[in-house]
Amino acid sequence: MAVSNFSPAASDENSASWSLSNLEMDSEDSKREGHRATVLAIETSCDETAVAVVRGRDVLSSIVSSQIEIHREYGGVVPEVASREHVGAMGEAIARALLASELGWDGIDAIAATCAPGLVGALMVGITAAKTLAMVHSKPFVGVHHLEVHIYASYLSDPDLQPPFLCLLVSGGHTSYVHVRAPGDYVILGKTRDDAAGEAFDKVARLLDLGYPGGPVIDRLTCSGNKQAFSLPEGRISLPEGGYHRYDASFSGLKTAVLRLTDRLKAEALETGGDVPVADVAASFQATVVRALVKRAIACVEDYGLKTVVVGGGVAANSELRSQLQIAAENHNFRVLFPPMKYCTDNAAMIACAAVDNFERGLRSPLTIGARSKLSITDVAELYQ
Ligand code: ADP
Ligand code: MG
Repeated sequence: MAVSNFSPAASDENSASWSLSNLEMDSEDSKREGHRATVLAIETSCDETAVAVVRGRDVLSSIVSSQIEIHREYGGVVPEVASREHVGAMGEAIARALLASELGWDGIDAIAATCAPGLVGALMVGITAAKTLAMVHSKPFVGVHHLEVHIYASYLSDPDLQPPFLCLLVSGGHTSYVHVRAPGDYVILGKTRDDAAGEAFDKVARLLDLGYPGGPVIDRLTCSGNKQAFSLPEGRISLPEGGYHRYDASFSGLKTAVLRLTDRLKAEALETGGDVPVADVAASFQATVVRALVKRAIACVEDYGLKTVVVGGGVAANSELRSQLQIAAENHNFRVLFPPMKYCTDNAAMIACAAVDNFERGLRSPLTIGARSKLSITDVAELYQ
C-alpha cells in the first residue's frame, strides 16, 4: 500500500472523527526496548477503527477513528453501521499508522488484530485486513483477545509491571475481577451477574435523557450533584447458604431502582412545579456503582494476598472510581494503576502491546481463524495454534 495515497479525512459532522498520537520514543526506553518486537495491530471490535504500531511497550503510532457521532443519533452502537464504517476507514487508518510510525513494512515483525470478543461483523473487517497484510508482506499473524488488552493497557503506563496482580476490568460489555497469575494465565474471581458497569452508566444516562455514551456525561454531571442525596441498592448477590458473594455483583437492580426513583421525582416535580434533581440522582448512582466495585476489589486483594490492582476498560476513566480506588489503596496497602486516559477506551496501542508479548512468547494464530462474539479470557489459548 502506498502510504502517500490515502484520501484526507472527511470532515462533515456525520463522519467518523480521527485522532492521532505519535509518541516520541524516550531514549532510555528505546535503549531498553531496542531488541523487542514491533507489531502493527488493528482493532475493530466495536465502534472504533484503530491501528497502532508498538515496539515492546513503546507506542510508535496510534490512530483512532471514532464512530461515536454516527451512533449517537441511535442512542447506541448499530452493528451493521459499525461494520460499514470500519470498511470505509480501514485503508486510511493503516496508512496513517504506518506513516506516523516512520517505519516501512520491513520494520514490522508481525501483524495483529482483535479476534474476540466483540461484534462479529465489525471484528471480521479488522481480521480480514490484518490477515491480508500478513499474507502480502509475509509476516506472522497474531490474534488478540479484547479483554486481555484492557489488562495490557496498564503496561503502557508502567512498562515494568509484572504479574501477579488483580485486574478490575470495567467496560461497556464486561465487569470482571481477573487474577492475572502470569502472562496468559487468568482466573476470573468475580463478575457481574447481569449488566456491565459501563452498560449501567449508559442505561441510566438514557433514562435520565442525558445522551450517549452515558459514562462521560454522568461523570461530568456529578461534579454539581450530591452523592449522598439518595440511597440506592449496591447489587449484592445472596448465597443459598446465607450471606453474600464476596466478588460477584448485579447492576440491573440498581438501574431499576434509578428508574423508580426518577419516576417518583418526575411526578413530584410535576406537582410542585420544581425540577428533577438530575445531578443528585446521577451522583448517587455513580457513587453506588463505584462503592460496589471498590468493595469487591478490596475483598479480592485481601483474600488472594495481592499487592497491585490495575484497572482496564472504558469505566477506568471514571473520576470517582479513580479517587475511591486510590483511597482504598492507601488504606489497604496495595498499589493501583490506571491506564493513561486515552488508552481506557478502545484503541489499537493496547492490542499491539499484548500482541508483542504474545508474539515474543512464540504465539501465532492460524490464517483460518475467524471472529468470535464470545470467548472467555480464560480460554485465550484457543486463539493460537
Ligand atoms: P466496550 O468495548 O466493552 O464497549 P469500552 O472499554 O470501549 O467498552 O468502554 C466504553 C464504556 O465505558 C461505555 O459504557 C461508557 O459509558 C463507559 N465510560 C467511558 N468513560 C466513562 C466515565 N468517565 N465514567 C464511567 N463510564 C465511562
Ligand atoms: Mg472495549
